[in-house]
Amino acid sequence: MTAAYIALGGNLGDPRRQLLDAVDALAHLPGTRLLRRSSLYRTPPWGVLEQPSFVNAAALLETTLAPHALLDALLAIEQNAGRVRAERNGPRTLDLDLLHMEGVRLDDERLTLPHPRIAERAFVLLPLNDLAPDLLLPGQGRVADLLATVDTQGCERLAE
Ligand code: ADP
Ligand code: MG
Repeated sequence: MTAAYIALGGNLGDPRRQLLDAVDALAHLPGTRLLRRSSLYRTPPWGVLEQPSFVNAAALLETTLAPHALLDALLAIEQNAGRVRAERNGPRTLDLDLLHMEGVRLDDERLTLPHPRIAERAFVLLPLNDLAPDLLLPGQGRVADLLATVDTQGCERLAE
């Protein structure tokens, strides 16, 4: 079993519902157990600013799936949530990113691990810090240290 950290986000439809449904779908993947999920956070849009705010979360899984099989499963969950790929950084019903798998470093045309843009993204680091503040991301650093360097203004934890 390998620990796998997943980032979830969305800003169309009912993002909270879609995120919670996606966490449920992650928990039911073959060879996979959901260990923990973070709080939900409301965060400002990134890149393309003229769009609704996002809801973000992170989940920690334990899985026997290989990295590319897990990526395929994430893309299938996005598809089931009605994701249409359009503009980069634009609005989406559900985005699932594979952040890190324990002991895995990988860079091919489909998958880069650890995900290369964790260190600059408050909307990823805030929920990831709920799960694993001491996690060391190879090539980037310790999650809590990275979080201390980003601007979290405008991000708020949602009451559940
Ligand atoms: P983004 O998440 O950057 O907004 P997409 O969700 O459209 O963009 O993902 C684009 C592609 O990024 C995916 O089809 C996938 O093949 C690739 N990719 C590379 N590394 C990763 C990763 N660690 N997690 C998720 N997708 C990744
Ligand atoms: Mg994605």
